[in-house]
Amino acid sequence: MAKGKIGVTTENIFPVIKKFLYSDNEIFLRELVSNAIDATQKLKTLAAFGDYKGELGEMDVRVKVDKEAGTITVSDHGIGMDADDIEKYINQIAFSGAEEFLAKYKDDANSIIGHFGLGFYSAFMVSKKVEIRSLSYKDGAKAVEWVCDGSPEYEMHEIEKDRRGTDIILYIDEESKEYLEQARIDALLKKYCRFLPVPVISGKVQEWKDGKMVDTDKDNVVNASEPLWTRKPSDLTDKDYLEFYHELMPGQEDPMFWIHLNVDFPFTLTGILYFPKVKSNIDLQRNRILLYSNQVFVTDQVEGVVPEFMTLMQGVIDSPDIPLNVSRSYLQADREVKKISGYITKKVAEKLDRMFKDNRADFEKKWDDIRIFIEYGMLTDEKFYDAAKSFFLLRDVQGKYFTLEEYRTLVEATQTDKQGEVIYLYATDKDAQYSYIRAAEEKGYNVLLMDGQLESHVVQMFESKLDKVRFVRVDSDIPERLIAKEDNASTGLDAMQTEIVTTLFRSQLPQMENANFVVGVQALPGSDAPATVTQNEFMRRMKEMAAMQPGAGFYGQLPDSYELIVNVDQSAVKSLVAEATEALKPTVEPLRNETAELEARIAAARKKAEEDKTTADTAADEKRVAELREEQEKAVSGYAAGKPVIKQIIDLALLQSNLLKGAALTDFIRRSVSLL
Ligand code: ADP
Repeated sequence: MAKGKIGVTTENIFPVIKKFLYSDNEIFLRELVSNAIDATQKLKTLAAFGDYKGELGEMDVRVKVDKEAGTITVSDHGIGMDADDIEKYINQIAFSGAEEFLAKYKDDANSIIGHFGLGFYSAFMVSKKVEIRSLSYKDGAKAVEWVCDGSPEYEMHEIEKDRRGTDIILYIDEESKEYLEQARIDALLKKYCRFLPVPVISGKVQEWKDGKMVDTDKDNVVNASEPLWTRKPSDLTDKDYLEFYHELMPGQEDPMFWIHLNVDFPFTLTGILYFPKVKSNIDLQRNRILLYSNQVFVTDQVEGVVPEFMTLMQGVIDSPDIPLNVSRSYLQADREVKKISGYITKKVAEKLDRMFKDNRADFEKKWDDIRIFIEYGMLTDEKFYDAAKSFFLLRDVQGKYFTLEEYRTLVEATQTDKQGEVIYLYATDKDAQYSYIRAAEEKGYNVLLMDGQLESHVVQMFESKLDKVRFVRVDSDIPERLIAKEDNASTGLDAMQTEIVTTLFRSQLPQMENANFVVGVQALPGSDAPATVTQNEFMRRMKEMAAMQPGAGFYGQLPDSYELIVNVDQSAVKSLVAEATEALKPTVEPLRNETAELEARIAAARKKAEEDKTTADTAADEKRVAELREEQEKAVSGYAAGKPVIKQIIDLALLQSNLLKGAALTDFIRRSVSLL
């Protein structure tokens, strides 16, 4: 019997392993099963090259839970280890700067284990004692047993063992008793081992008998050793892909389509990515891509590892170039992993491009469903933007699709404004903005439908990327001003009249929660509506963007800002203005004159005070100005209150933009009836 001390520089590694790694301790099983698989694969390789001439026999890996004995045993029939191997691979753990590293990564078992190659030692996270019983494949090898109770001392001696391979026996400690439940172990195997390349057996298949579940004599194989992504795409049918999808993502609708990745250069990467149907924000769930390294599950936390937009997709990616035992922060910083990510982006873009070129009609049919992926990709990934701009589709309200280039050609002639900017008009809601769409179309403009979840971002993106293009929502202005071609015609009103009209309408605006109105006057065709409500494009976009961010921010809190544009050439408004001017002039004119005088006096006093470096005493004049204003306001709004037609005109405009609701709507209907 040999006794020795495990070669670590830290006095006692085991308490450290136990203490620090408890949070992630379930990975011990992944580590031990992976080692068993490796040992199995190594022997198969040796046999394939003629370096091992013996019988291979059954090559499965078994995990056995013995609740009574308090043990878990992981057995394989791989290459095994002799005493020298154990000395070399198990006893000598290269260890430098260990304590420092452990302290830094104490919450991250994965990176500790990866850093030190401590896969096997993770067994001590859950065990008070670990035994290795192994017989090497080498001719004449002697079977050995290694026992270690969690102190740096181990024992090693020869034993009798007939079958080649290794048993790792864990004596589970008090705190880790949960792992002695078959169900717990099966769940872990399902998580980490379900696609391992060698059959992994855990217990027996159970069946329902005499009112309870009992073991049959059939081994329970927990894994599919040839998962779909490792097979050739040409051998697979749509049905295979769909079945695999439902196995991976139970309870989901069929995906729209998928991409089978299969590359061996410049690195090895296989995988299948599914595009799910995304219907609402709620569907934008992440963590649906599972990362594997040689069929061993690594993580489902893939942010930073795969391109961000791909986190909307589902499926698996497998690459031996993805290190198994590192933390996520390691993964994200890893140069190789970054390359993989860039490469996946390229592949996805290529596939989409091919779909577009091969069958545009079909691509258009899918567009509404896949648009969100493409938009998200373009927004978050410069390279993807470049690849996608040739197949990105704009859709107009009539349901026609255009590439960016086609669309520019379509509207350039009619929709370029006086500054040379091409204005892309768009609607976000075909029904709510119906009358604005109609009005724009009547002017010969094309209107896009941009009703996706990311549109406000997309609009900004295209404005910054496309040359001289500006997006304007159809209801953000009256048709005449949507695309400014020449300077607006004068209203034909003098300053007093403009003030009167503005006050007439402002005073009759309904009180609405969270909405601010300003009133403007315009001379528009007499056949147009007497008034129109438009929504400020800039403010609306800011609010929309803010709404998508958690916490909503400054813009999110602001009220909506609207403009009520009064058409002074419309006959009802025209006669209203004429009447009101006549009735109000005798009152308003003197008030305005006095205001103007006082304002001039205040300005002069201020100017003088500034020159003399003193302060002007204008308080009395200012007070009087305020009084005059109030008086004027009172006179005009008093007059307005007696003119139901004003409210009627406002309500019609609100109605047209879906802003007339509840009690205001009922009032409107009553008033309409009485006006009849
Ligand atoms: P790693 O697997 O990262 O090399 P481990 O600590 O898990 O680190 O294992 C150390 C070494 O011990 C392995 O590289 C292998 O040579 C040997 N080993 C572990 N488990 C087995 C096994 N079941 N059969 C044969 N050799 C094994």
